[in-house]
Amino acid sequence: MSNDLLKIAALNLKKAIPLMLKHSIPTTPTNYALWYAYVGESNPKLNLALDKTIEQNQQYSPVSSELLYRQHIADPVELDVRDMRQNLDAMVCELSQSLKDTNQDTSTFQTKIEKEFNKLTELESKGFSLEQVIKVVRGIVKESANIHSSTVSFTQQLTKAQTEINTLKQRLAETEKDVLYDALTEALNRRAFNEDIAAVISQSPKGCCLILADIDFFKQFNDTYGHQLGDLVLKVVAKRLQESCRDGVKLYRFGGEEFAIIVPNSQQRVARQLAEGMRRSIEKLSVKDRRSETRIDNINASFGVVEWKESQTTSQLIEGADKLLYEAKRLGRNRVMPISG
Ligand code: GH3
Ligand code: MG
Ligand code: MG
Repeated sequence: MSNDLLKIAALNLKKAIPLMLKHSIPTTPTNYALWYAYVGESNPKLNLALDKTIEQNQQYSPVSSELLYRQHIADPVELDVRDMRQNLDAMVCELSQSLKDTNQDTSTFQTKIEKEFNKLTELESKGFSLEQVIKVVRGIVKESANIHSSTVSFTQQLTKAQTEINTLKQRLAETEKDVLYDALTEALNRRAFNEDIAAVISQSPKGCCLILADIDFFKQFNDTYGHQLGDLVLKVVAKRLQESCRDGVKLYRFGGEEFAIIVPNSQQRVARQLAEGMRRSIEKLSVKDRRSETRIDNINASFGVVEWKESQTTSQLIEGADKLLYEAKRLGRNRVMPISG
């Protein structure tokens, strides 16, 4: 500042302070700027406005001082920066909130935004250049765009992963089915039987029965009508047996034309009745061979029924059922052994 300007400044100050005191205006920077400009008589419109305020004996208000300052003194660029700063404040709040919501990279984003924001504060303290401010704002916008795109790609990755998981789950379920079920009869397979019977016995159950069923003279069906029809008979028999399985009773294809049925929570008498019902329903079966138009209605099966006894092993249990099944065959087939349980 040159000497002349200093002299003018000192002169204006000497004039402004008494005026402010006279009209009871607080000596805030804004008010001082207003009255400094008033005594300097550089801004006629401001002087008119201030004169009017004094004339009307209006009470001092920080808001009206701020408005006068904005209208007559402040540089429009400076005001733009102030407004922008306020908008940025709101934007930073909003962005960091939504970021917290998505729980994404909050700390990195926060640091970046703070860095940009500090630049802005620095600019403010040094003086205002709209270009510089815009540069900083652009930086912030870019950062938020980066965060947005990383969130979008993260979501896409999640969706992709979800789809892959679903496909794998579906495949796993199919494989599980392949592993535990017999493809021809859709009954559980021997592997499933081995697992289930071991699990049931390990619990030392009170009352658990095993039924072994074997189709009578099955070889004859194959020999007379062909293997395909033999398969059809197997399917139909399995379906009929399955229909009788309720309340935790499970059917397994034990081998060739043999089936096993695990009957939990039951005494031999009850399991025997169940086997008898199965035998009758098989007896009633009638399968038609479409090619030869022949009807097969002599399908029968024999049954052996045992109840698990304390400390009996799986093979001992199976052996017991097998013996009774053999007994049923020997006695003429199409029957349940023992005769009464
Ligand atoms: P039994 O009354 O003594 O049980 O006589 P069977 O003829 O039923 O018994 P055998 O053990 O002599 O014959 C069983 C036949 O079952 C032999 C085999 O070819 C047939 N078989 C086994 N598995 C299948 C299959 O998946 N499909 C067809 N079509 N036949 C099968
Ligand atoms: Mg057999
Ligand atoms: Mg047989």
